[in-house]
Formats: sequence, C-alpha cells, structure tokens
Amino acid sequence: MSATSFPTFTIEGYPRVGANRELKKALESFWAGRIDEETFTSSAHSIRLDNYARLRELGLSEDYAIPADVALYDQVLETAVTVGLIGGDDEQIDLVEYFALARGNADRAPLEMTKWFDTNYHYLVPEVTETGAITPRAQRIIDIVTEAKAAGHTVRPFLVGPVTLLALSKPAEGSSADFNPLTRLAELTEAYQAVLAALAEAGVEWIQLAEPALVADLTVASDEELADYAATAYGTILGASNRPQVLLSTPYGSLHKGLDALVKVAPEALQVDLAPVTLAADTDYVERVAAAVAGTDITLAAGVIDGRNIWAADLRERLSVLEALKNGGVEKLAVSSSVSLQHVPHSVAVETALPVDVAGWLSFANEKIGEAKALATALNEGTVAAADDFARSDRAVRTRKESARTHNQAVQDRVAALPEGEVARQPAFAERIVAQEVLGLPKLPTTTIGSFPQTPQIRKARADHRAGSLTDEQYVDALKDEVRQVIELQERLGLDVLVHGEPERNDMVQYFAELLDGFVTTEFGWVQSYGSRCTRPSIVVGDVSRPKAMTVEWAKYAQSLSDKHVKGMLTGPVTILAWSFTRDDVPKSVSADQIALALADEVKDLEEAGIEIIQIDEPALRELLPLRATARPAYLDWAVRSFRLVSIDATPKTQIHTHLCYSEFGQIIDAVAGLDADVTSIEAARSRMELLTDLDESFHSEIGPGIWDIHSPRVPDVAELTELIKAALVNVPTERLWINPDCGLKTRGYAEVEPALRNLVLARDLVVESL
Ligand code: GLN
Ligand code: ZN
Repeated sequence: MSATSFPTFTIEGYPRVGANRELKKALESFWAGRIDEETFTSSAHSIRLDNYARLRELGLSEDYAIPADVALYDQVLETAVTVGLIGGDDEQIDLVEYFALARGNADRAPLEMTKWFDTNYHYLVPEVTETGAITPRAQRIIDIVTEAKAAGHTVRPFLVGPVTLLALSKPAEGSSADFNPLTRLAELTEAYQAVLAALAEAGVEWIQLAEPALVADLTVASDEELADYAATAYGTILGASNRPQVLLSTPYGSLHKGLDALVKVAPEALQVDLAPVTLAADTDYVERVAAAVAGTDITLAAGVIDGRNIWAADLRERLSVLEALKNGGVEKLAVSSSVSLQHVPHSVAVETALPVDVAGWLSFANEKIGEAKALATALNEGTVAAADDFARSDRAVRTRKESARTHNQAVQDRVAALPEGEVARQPAFAERIVAQEVLGLPKLPTTTIGSFPQTPQIRKARADHRAGSLTDEQYVDALKDEVRQVIELQERLGLDVLVHGEPERNDMVQYFAELLDGFVTTEFGWVQSYGSRCTRPSIVVGDVSRPKAMTVEWAKYAQSLSDKHVKGMLTGPVTILAWSFTRDDVPKSVSADQIALALADEVKDLEEAGIEIIQIDEPALRELLPLRATARPAYLDWAVRSFRLVSIDATPKTQIHTHLCYSEFGQIIDAVAGLDADVTSIEAARSRMELLTDLDESFHSEIGPGIWDIHSPRVPDVAELTELIKAALVNVPTERLWINPDCGLKTRGYAEVEPALRNLVLARDLVVESL
C-alpha cells in the first residue's frame, strides 16, 4: 500500500446539483426527451469537473482532499449499483435502466424514497433479495476517478459503507417475512473488497466509506448490533492488502458503541461529527474521541465545520475543539466538515439581496471550505497565519450577538410569560366536540387537505409578479379569481368543508417565513431534496414575531363566497422549523414557542374574521425525531407543546384540524394523540387503512384517513373509495370519521382532481345511505 498521507483539510461531500442547478436542468431535459443521452452525459461530466475546479480554487488542492461523492440521482442508489447490491447480475447498467430504478417505468415501480437520517434529503431505498447475485460494477467508480485525473484532479472516491447500505435497505418483495438485509453483509463485504481492489489497481490511494448508520438507533438493528456488524465488515475490508487507504466517515451525530469498534479495526483515517449541535447533545464526545484515537496510527478528520447549518463558524471556539483533541493525545489531526455540504446552498456571495449584516453571519458550502482551511492553517501555523479569517469570524460572532435582528425583547418576554412544560387547550376534547355541534356538519363530512392544483396560470402570475410585469393588485386579482373558481368547484362537487386552495403559497413554509419577522429567505439558496428536486429553505435568524395577519384576507374572501364552512390554513411550528435552517444560538424549542405564539395570534384573527374551522398542518412532525432514542421524548414534548400553543386560546367551538402526511405512525402515535386536535387527517390510502388498527383510546380526535392516494395520477373509482370508507368504519365510529384525500392537491391537475373528488363525495353518499 502506498502512503500519500491524508490531506490537512477536506470536506465530507459537496452539493451535486451545480451552483445554478445545472444538473437539475440537464436531468429534466433528458427525461423529457429534449436532449439526447450524449448531450446529457456531457453536461453531467462538465458539472462534475466544474465542481472539482471550484473546490480546488477554494483551497482543496492537496491530493485526495476533493471528495468525489458524485451521483446522477442519489448517493445511495449510486453506491448500491456500484457494489452490485441492486440491478441484477448485468455487468453494466445503462442510463435508462438507472433512471428506471429511481423513477420507475412502464414495467417497474420506482424504488421507494425516504428521508436520509434527520436531514431533508431523500434517498432511494435499495430492495435486497435473499439470494440474488451481488455483482460489483467497479468500472463506474474508476471512470469517475479517471475522468477527474484527466482534468488534473486527484479526487477521493466515495461510497456509502456496507453496514449503512444494508441497514437502509429493505427486503425485496417476496422475501420471507423475517429476512433482514443485514444478513447479507458478508457477501456484500466481498463486493466492496472487489471494488477497492480494482481502485488500488487503478492507482487510487484513498477512498471514503460513509457509515452514518452507526450514529443512529435504528429499528432494524441496535447501536450495539450495528457496531458488531461494522467490526466484522471492516475487519475484513481493512484486512486486505490490495486496497486504497480508507477514510471511514460517521456523519449526522456521535458514535456510541461504534467508536471503539471502528478504532479497533483501524482505518487509516476516521472522520467524526464534531458540530456544535452534536457536541451539545453528547457533551463528552470530544474527550471520548480523543481517548479512543490517542496512541493509534489513525488520522482523525475532525468534522468541526457544521455542514447541517448555514451559520458562519465561531473559529476560535472551533479551534479550541481541535486543540482539545490534540491535547487529548490525537497526533494526526485533519480538519473536515461534520457532514456532507450537500445540505447547504453553494454560496453566500451571490445573495446580494440579503441584509449585509445577515450575509456576514452566514456561511454556505463554499464559505465553509474557507473556514476549514482557516482552521487547518491556524492549527498548523498559528492563528496569525489566518488572521483575516479569524477577524471576520470574531466580527460575525459579535455583531450577531448584539443585533436587534436576533433579539426582540417583546417576543422574549411573551415567551417567558408562558407556563413551562405541558400546556392544554380548555375545555377538554369531549366538551369541545359538543360545542362544535353548532357547525352543523353532516355524517361523514367531506373535505380536502388544503391546496388545489397549482396551475400553469398561477405559476405564470407568480413569475410575472416577481418580474414586475404584474402589479400587486393585478396579482391579487388573479389569485382571487383562482380562489373563486376553487370555491365554485367544491360547491358543485358537494364537499362539506371547503378550502380556498392556497394559490398564494408557493410553498407551505416559505409563505409564512416571508411574512414573519425573524426569518430571511435567499434568492439562490437551493438545496437538493431528491433527484432533480431542490428546495430553498428559509433561515430563522432571530426572535420570531408576526407584524400582521398572514392568511386572514384569503380565508375571509373565500368564506364570503360560500355558505359552507371554509377552513383556515396554517402551517404548524414544527413543520416551519423542520423545513428551514434554524438558529444555533437558542434551542429549536425556543423558536418553536415563538412561532407558535405568532400563529396563535393568527388563529385569533381568523376567529374574529368568522372562520370556524382552522387546520394546522404538521406533516414534518416525525421528521425532526432525533436519531438517538434517548433524545426522542424531550423532542416530542416540545413539539407537542408548540403545536398546542397555537390553538391554546381558541374558543371551544372553533374546530382545530391537523394534517400529517404519512401512515407509519409507530414511534410517534402518542405524540399525534397528544396534539389534541379536534380532527386529524392522515395518509392512509396506500396502506389501505392499516394504520387505524394502531389507534387506541388515547386517540380521541375525529379522524380523516385519506382514501385517495394523491401521489398517483390514477383516479380512484366509487367502488374502491366506498370500500375504503367501509374499511375505516371497522375501526372508527361513524361520528368520528371524516372523508378526505391523503394530502394536498397542488401537484395534481384538474383532470384528475375533479372526477376523484366527485367519486369521493358519491362514495360517502353511498356509505351514509347504507348506515
Ligand atoms: N395544506 C397543505 C396542502 O394541502 C398540506 C401539505 C402537506 O401535507 N404537505 O398542500
Ligand atoms: Zn400531507
């Protein structure tokens, strides 16, 4: 084995979509048939090389400092195909087949997609068979390295490690009931060995294997089991002599049992997540890491640059962590990011519309690389050698702490006056539901979840308004027109509780972020959500308050058009936080309470405007669930509390709805019951009402299990919908059941929405007749 030493600083990974979302555009053009395979391949090639060139310019000029964590769609898919875990025994997989795995085609459903650890990135879930061949396709990764080499870059290839890959996979359809993909670890390890041997043969001296599963308590395996699996797999992989040196990385949290297990197998380098949030949750992690690594030959890549968030690092404080490691006996120390920078936008420099003080507080991917470089310089040559960076960091820390943008005394006082701990709306549900009889709703009331199709006309009006060719007034008129049509349609279809359709919202979080004080939004801050999809998360900069009503005019207008009830529509505090970048100077729970109070004022204003039903969406409630089991109860406590604060002062006859998007309630069922909403709508169509069997007496609210899977363009017929309603009635008494789709309709077209909703009302009518 050759011995190019590990670079002095690096990053775990870098955004793949391109600074101007070039990959998104290329993918969508290719899928739509607007460009051919050759053109697509050549754009993807240019995007990769542009990234390498930029990374080098930003300072990652040492050999193997640039991570080649490239993937056309998803890093898990890319690894699974490269090591041959999926894709059958073909030696090659062409682009058409590759995208068919990701997106499905006429004969095959796409692989399931789910959230990558506790981030907002979604990966594709590999489907593992019990005995299928695992045929590595090493050429894929060698091509990546060769392509970079030809352009003058010695990059570090990347694969998700074998333990994580299997822990995140699911049994293929038709496997026996108790099949656990992790039982194929030994075979998969051989495939990794083959890929590593091929890389060594090609002259590659470093590879990165990422094992984030080791920082989480997963349902498929405990922390201890995962550590054992890792010990076995890496014992074998690292025991081979024909391989590159290995950087094992463990992003997204702290290692527990895994730490000793990984140090024992002795990779040449180990990367750990030492971001401030991680250290706050695991206060002696730095000491444990130092103690474990001291006296070994392992290079510790200290992930001190927070890749999860967008705040400029406090370089002095971060340097003290590096020094603690050194003093703790770590001899070979490198600087890195805590996680891949794929979760943050490219660059603050292009955000010229941001207030200058705020811009100085932020650090996106490119700026973070500068911080890693400054820390490495300070570590090796003293802080004077990076004086400018330290001065900038000092200034950012100081001005942010002192800024009125961050601190709003009135908001802080209001939160401080709240009772601590559990809060509850009065009177209790049993009494409220009686008070709500005045609403005069029919048996099995029908409703929708909020949004109606975002038509090309709406999108055009929004774009024209942004570009200045539509005045504010013209824009509002266009949206009102839309609301009127949506109300008319619902009346025509015979729905009971109407919605205004949310045409004014481009995004259910950003809409509120733009109207609340304490948030900023970016112009170009795109982050990959999955495949070609990107989102532009808002940033909570400071204490949050509501300068004026946010939704009341729309609700009032919609209500003025109908004698039926129109639901007010709010996004809940947990979801607003989950889909934004949050503060690092206060716990999330503090921002959650502040947002809740702003929304509570909105609830009051809606009531005053005559709105009697208000929905508070919390589709992200499960998403923020901590990776470590011990941290979950505290999270659920503050999440539930903040939700409850929103409607704490609502009058008993105001009916509060909530909506959640998934059917696997499992770990959070008590918390969902604890939200204490009057009506809860949830996704249920695909699982055919399965989740209803999980509900026990503690779940008192009325419930609307979705009967139409809106993720598919298929229009369900009356018979099928009737059957689902009847299935729901097996577990839910008639007086408590609502009839609605699974989720909002914004991604659907009217061609599907109209017949599907008509069938939904018809099915309800049929069931009511038969009661
Ligand atoms: N009210 C939102 C809508 O209908 C809810 C969206 C969601 O659940 N993600 O679009
Ligand atoms: Zn939903």
